[in-house]
Amino acid sequence: MSARNDRSYSRRSILKNGLAGAAATVWAVRMVSAQQGIPHVASSDPMVQSLGYVENAATVNPAVNPTYKAGQTCGSCALAQGGAADKWRPCRMFGGKLVSSAGWCRVWVKQPT
Ligand code: SF4
Repeated sequence: MSARNDRSYSRRSILKNGLAGAAATVWAVRMVSAQQGIPHVASSDPMVQSLGYVENAATVNPAVNPTYKAGQTCGSCALAQGGAADKWRPCRMFGGKLVSSAGWCRVWVKQPT
C-alpha cells in the first residue's frame, strides 16, 4: 500500500469515525430533548400512593415497606428505561412520566444478571 493510500485510509477512517461520533451526539441530544417534555411523577399521582413511590429511596420506611432492601432504587430496577446515567427515567409502571433514578416503589424488580 502506498503512502498516499495510507493517507486516504486515514482520512476515510477519520471521516467514518467523525460521522459515527456526530450521529451518537445527535442521538444523545434527541434522548435528552425527548425527556425534557416528559413530566416527573407528581406526588399527587394516585399511583404514587398505591405503589409507595418516593423520589429518594433513602426515605423509604422499612416498617411500612418491608420488601424494601437497601440499595434498591429505580436506577437498579428492571422496569426503568432510559440510560443508566439519567437522573430521571421513564418507567413501565408510570407511563408518560419520569421517575427519579434515586427513587423506589413496591414493584421494584431486580435486573437480570
Ligand atoms: Fe422505580 Fe422500578 Fe418502581 Fe418504576 S417500577 S418506580 S423504576 S422501582
